Amino acid sequence: LSDRLVADVRADFPGIAGRPERAYLDSAATAQRPASVIDAEAAFARTEYAAVHRGSSMATGEATDAFETAREKVAAFVGAGDREVVWTENATDALNVVALGMADASAGLGGERFALGAGDEIVVTEAEHHANLIPWQRLARRTGATLRWVPVDDDGLWTTDDLRAVLSPRTRVVSFAHVSNVTGLIAPVADVVDAAHAVGALAVLDACQSAPHLSVDLASLGVDFAAFSAHKMAGPNGLGVLYGRSELLDELPPARTGGSTITTVTMDEAEFLPAPHRFEAGTQPVTQAVGLGAAVDYLSRLGMDAVHAREADLAAELVETVAAVPGVRLVGPAPGSARAALASFAVDGVHAHDVGQFLDDRGITVRTGHHCAQPLHRRLGVTATTRASAYVYTTSDEIRALGEALGEVRAFFGADR
Ligand code: PMP
Repeated sequence: LSDRLVADVRADFPGIAGRPERAYLDSAATAQRPASVIDAEAAFARTEYAAVHRGSSMATGEATDAFETAREKVAAFVGAGDREVVWTENATDALNVVALGMADASAGLGGERFALGAGDEIVVTEAEHHANLIPWQRLARRTGATLRWVPVDDDGLWTTDDLRAVLSPRTRVVSFAHVSNVTGLIAPVADVVDAAHAVGALAVLDACQSAPHLSVDLASLGVDFAAFSAHKMAGPNGLGVLYGRSELLDELPPARTGGSTITTVTMDEAEFLPAPHRFEAGTQPVTQAVGLGAAVDYLSRLGMDAVHAREADLAAELVETVAAVPGVRLVGPAPGSARAALASFAVDGVHAHDVGQFLDDRGITVRTGHHCAQPLHRRLGVTATTRASAYVYTTSDEIRALGEALGEVRAFFGADR
């Protein structure tokens, strides 16, 4: 995307074009939405809105078509089959659905291949978002399995060799982020999947920070399950996606049960539909699904390769800018190494929340805190960092403005004396 095209892209986003005084550098938390997404949701709400997969009215039929078309678009976008995309509340929910399904399998509720017990091991990394840690902690507690983790180094990084050192024939699940929301590390997914499969473990991918930014082909990456959120990829909030290989999804016990998930119900028991519907209990977020369909249309028009190339430039600019400020410690891959277009950093002598407030007062929106990755921050020896993250509408000028403001922050708080 050339600078000229980025100007056009910015015009597509009301939350960007309508707030020219603000540099929105918090897309890793939630991304702005283009008008085409907001309009698609509104058009659906105006003309086609009805319950889906319920009854036989024309209204239901139209809404169901829109809902299922959105599923097909999202599936195609990530290299999945239509039956391999399950709607969830968000990525957190999607990861919980996998872990809870495995807990149910362990309790004898079907899906024996997913049953865990004492002696089995679940492997994550020390850099995971809490969404990809706590569900596995709970699963381990419930089943007697052991949670193990790949330790990270002083910069928050890990390699496939580090992972291999933790794997064993007892490993049943390996769950890891494609892109870290704190360090920006891009995991070697295919290698990790191979290593997991070599010991007979399932590979679960947290694709929250990759699906919005990279061309992701889940089938060719070989992962068994994956999770991502609509709101980080120019879509609405309130919707996530669980991907699973269809033969796995058809066997995983559904964590949530109820209407729309079944074939036959008696007073004693229920038989569940095949995937994806067996997981979609209750009235579904149809408007959000239509919005996500429009979001992947928008991203596909830009072209994910072009998005990634543009973001690789922004990543380099971000890293150079942040690393050049005296007294600022950048975490994650060293300047010159590949990373996602986000930079988390600690400012010597100034708490991240003060840094965030200082930047906010200058119109620069960033995220501060532990970014739902407390163990990682503990390992890095800081309680909090400040994170600047870019998306398709981010400009070099915004990154320069960040650099200039950061250059003043320590003097402002008297931390340079
Ligand atoms: N994993 C990663 C890497 C994330 O960045 C996030 C969002 N910060 C999540 C999981 C959870 O996403 P959500 O809050 O949309 O469920």
